[in-house]
Amino acid sequence: MAPDLLARFTRYVQIDTQSRVDRERSPSTPGQLDLSRLLVEELHAIGVTDAELDEHGYVYATLPATVPDSLVIGLIAHVDTSPDAPGAGVAPIVWSDYDGGVIELPRAGTRLDPTTMPELAEKQGHDIVTASGDTLLGADDKAGVAAIMAAVAHMAAHPELPRPTLRIAFTPDEEIGHGATMFDIPRFGARCAYTIDGSTLGELQDETFSAIEVRTTITGVGVHPGWAKGKLVNPVRVAAQIVAALPSDRLTPETTAGREGYIHPAMFLGTTDHAEVRFVLRDFEEGLLKSHVELVRSVAQEVVASTPGAKLDFDVIRQYPNMLEYLERDPEVMAAAEEAVRAEGIEPLREPIRGGTDGSRLSQMGLPTPNIFDGGHEYHSVREWASLQDMAAAAAVIVRLAETWSRR
Ligand SMILES: [Zn+2]
Repeated sequence: MAPDLLARFTRYVQIDTQSRVDRERSPSTPGQLDLSRLLVEELHAIGVTDAELDEHGYVYATLPATVPDSLVIGLIAHVDTSPDAPGAGVAPIVWSDYDGGVIELPRAGTRLDPTTMPELAEKQGHDIVTASGDTLLGADDKAGVAAIMAAVAHMAAHPELPRPTLRIAFTPDEEIGHGATMFDIPRFGARCAYTIDGSTLGELQDETFSAIEVRTTITGVGVHPGWAKGKLVNPVRVAAQIVAALPSDRLTPETTAGREGYIHPAMFLGTTDHAEVRFVLRDFEEGLLKSHVELVRSVAQEVVASTPGAKLDFDVIRQYPNMLEYLERDPEVMAAAEEAVRAEGIEPLREPIRGGTDGSRLSQMGLPTPNIFDGGHEYHSVREWASLQDMAAAAAVIVRLAETWSRR
């Protein structure tokens, strides 16, 4: 499947599908629809005749079963790319039979150095795909999209392979937390689903962060600075004091790993009229997540209380839950995935995701959806890269997964 997958992948990454925060419609950006329309066309060409793009930018399609009376299993990937780095004008480069050395990308002096990227160091002999140095690659999640497309094309061409009914969905706006928002679970009609949106070969994940966003808005008292003595209350200064008063040697993304959570000031906007800081709060434990909210609240209240004239608005927005709670109740979903990964000769890696996936909210909404690797790395950065062999392994795991479920 590798040549077909590579052709699809390089085609998909050249379409700018970057999503945008604070969306006004679904999808947040029109480029996502360009890829979604192409996927519908390609599914039709494969023979998946019911492939369709809905009014919210979701692609739904069905590959019928070859085993009678089998279940309906879902496959999901997201078409959008992260707003965290430039996403337009992606010029992919294939480094065939990678020699294990430093990869110097042609633009912006970007280097992929295996001495600081242990996962790249392991891929000597693989075909490595990168961007050109000044954009994302978009393997998150076009590696997942391409793996599903290549696997579906392969299974459609090989009706002798046993498979259940496969429902396919390509979602928009996952990177801004909306992949599941308009997902039509009844229409999808699957017993369970798998997102192909992990990273390292073998990853199989049933646990994500629980996620909350906190928005602190400070209103001050605006006065011309020339006549401001004793009158001006500057919300920019108050907001900066709040950020400075929070811990910086712990509870931050840059000082935590594994199962530790964090408080991350992710956006700071301010004028002398008002200022807003948005904090991303993450933890695997619900109780700890709540304690992070209370820490931000008490620090913000204290700082504002010590600044007469300043006013605080504090909003807590639930983003997604740890999906483990839902997947533990339905162990067959992970058992089938483990079996499929092992059947491909790969040892499953069961690390919790320090982030979320479409599956976090889909599982909560009633569609159990763990996450499977897709072979990409260094997501959301200009150093993003993917191994063709590992992407092809993800496609092979999908074919194994279909075989596994056809027996259940
Ligand atoms: Zn992703």
